[in-house]
Amino acid sequence: MAKPAGRRRSYTARGITRLTCCVRGCTNKAKFEWRICADDNLARPICSEHDVALNTLVMRWAFQNTREPDIARYRQRVLG
Ligand SMILES: [Zn+2]
Repeated sequence: MAKPAGRRRSYTARGITRLTCCVRGCTNKAKFEWRICADDNLARPICSEHDVALNTLVMRWAFQNTREPDIARYRQRVLG
């Protein structure tokens, strides 16, 4: 599967699953999309594992170690 270039319009829930995760070196199928302001706010497909990793990174950056239960709950919900 080709890495999409990113796009302005959001992907559909069905369409996103046809794509590969945008993270360099990752070959997982995408499940979600992410938008980064510094990346021209384009919609980028991302796999479940990288979505959890990114959420964990941002939660710890913003709230230090005060939100570990929320991170664990999100991880459980997304990765099972
Ligand atoms: Zn990935």
